[in-house]
Amino acid sequence: MERENWIWAERYCHPAQWDQAFAPMSAPDMLRASATAHPDAPLIDFMGRIYPYSEVLDGAKRVACGLRDLGIERGDRVGLYLPNVPHYVAAYYGALMAGAIVVNFSPLYTAAELEHQVEDSGTRVLFTLSARALLPTAIEVLNNSRLERLVVGSVAGALPKSKALFYTLFRQKEVAPRPNDGRILSFSALIDNDGLCETLHFDPEKDIALLQYTGGTTGTPKGAMISHQNLTANARQVALLDPHPEQVDRVLGVLPFFHVFANSCVLNRTVAMGGEIVMLPRFDAGQVLASIERTKATSLPGVPTMYQALLDHPAIGKSDLSSLRVCISGGAPLPLEVKQRFEAVTGAKVVEGYGLTESSGVISSNPYEGLNKTGTIGQPIPGTRVKLVSREDPTQPAPAGEPGEIVFAGPQMMCGYWKRPDADEEVFVGGYLRTGDVGVIDEDGYIRIVDRLKDMISVGGFKVFPSQVEAVLYHHPAVKEALVIGIPDTYRGESPKAFVTLQEGATIDGPGLMDWLNPQLGKHERVVAVEIRASLPKTLVGKLSRKELVAEEKAKAAAA
Ligand code: AMP
Repeated sequence: MERENWIWAERYCHPAQWDQAFAPMSAPDMLRASATAHPDAPLIDFMGRIYPYSEVLDGAKRVACGLRDLGIERGDRVGLYLPNVPHYVAAYYGALMAGAIVVNFSPLYTAAELEHQVEDSGTRVLFTLSARALLPTAIEVLNNSRLERLVVGSVAGALPKSKALFYTLFRQKEVAPRPNDGRILSFSALIDNDGLCETLHFDPEKDIALLQYTGGTTGTPKGAMISHQNLTANARQVALLDPHPEQVDRVLGVLPFFHVFANSCVLNRTVAMGGEIVMLPRFDAGQVLASIERTKATSLPGVPTMYQALLDHPAIGKSDLSSLRVCISGGAPLPLEVKQRFEAVTGAKVVEGYGLTESSGVISSNPYEGLNKTGTIGQPIPGTRVKLVSREDPTQPAPAGEPGEIVFAGPQMMCGYWKRPDADEEVFVGGYLRTGDVGVIDEDGYIRIVDRLKDMISVGGFKVFPSQVEAVLYHHPAVKEALVIGIPDTYRGESPKAFVTLQEGATIDGPGLMDWLNPQLGKHERVVAVEIRASLPKTLVGKLSRKELVAEEKAKAAAA
């Protein structure tokens, strides 16, 4: 069953106009276009310090010239090991202008993780900050890997003096780079030039802009190759969702920029639309509430756990959040109750969208206005085709009316995995890209995710979808969060086990919850244990994460 997105997309522009809407464009050209149209408009608000478009463009040009002076050539990899700070934006666009491929690194990476990704990607130059949590790790990797240079920024220079507060935000002081190490240079030394070096031209559909690492459908992290066109097209696709593009958006940028969700929905989309980013380097619910109030932010893209944390914060009732118009929630299923409560408290609309690293950001979304179907991930965004294929044989369509693996095609579909033709073979099928997510499409063309192939548990050969067991658990009034994983079982291969956190004041124990749960489940779905925990692991963007629990259980089984 293939449903193309013609009808819905026509609300924004006729398919005949799509070629123009998504005409090939490089990332630097997207920044230049906005900076030319409104040079004095603010692009970044960092703790009250405003960086207009012209200043960011100028910074990026200087970064580009500085990198070229260091010998960076087209196609070389330049890494960003940075939290959300203004340096990120200048380094990102500057590296792209220099013709380099940007490699995003999580600022929470350990030295081993950093080193692995540096080696896999062949990163030559890495941007970081002179912060205690980052610089020593970066230096360790500089000494132990093929990395050639570090460029070290200082946030003090990016802030008004009164904002020494930033240091308490990071809970750390700046540390000075080791003097006399020629491989380490400061950000200010890098940009100490006139920014007037040669302007490069790109083939936006072929030239790779980003290597975005992901676990993907199988274990080891792989670099998704995202072209300039993938990136700018997705920014424009998401921008088309806004029925009022004339109202300048002030986006609260607290999602980490190294992740594809923020890259698309916060950074690139805002630049495409000429909007402003209120940048926060880490998630702190009180700080987010205060920043919305201070800046009158109009949108807050986030993951569900973020909205939940804001609702749980004591200041929520006292904060004026009436400036918020629309919040895109993505990354994980948005619980109905969280959506409704957040909408009631703020008056904003929360729309659920969906995407993955391999889609350079977004594949589908509920509309900002019109039919918003809670529990669905909406319809394909303009220019995107989605269909469901058989879980057993992805070359075949899913049987009519049955769930199938979601595959998609569109200008945001990545070019492939970095040096992993084997993984490409698995993920591309007949011009579409497999998502590893299982969904159904309703009569209005709205997609509902019912599970993830990547998390499927095989119980004696029978497939058990954890989210179906979790969905039952969420019906118990004592359950706050739930994760179900497969644990090793010598007889059946794997057995389901549940991990939960409880609502405040709830007293039920694991066996009690299991007695309530199992009679409601099919034979193979029944869990062998329910473990109550104080908290459950989350990914860096705040999604509940099964990975750590799976590793823990495997280690336990191996030790037994
Ligand atoms: P990543 O590549 O880290 O962005 O992870 C992408 C995965 O997150 C997708 O394949 C989905 O499994 C999951 N995901 C993203 N958005 C949603 C959503 N709205 N509801 C459920 N799962 C989602």
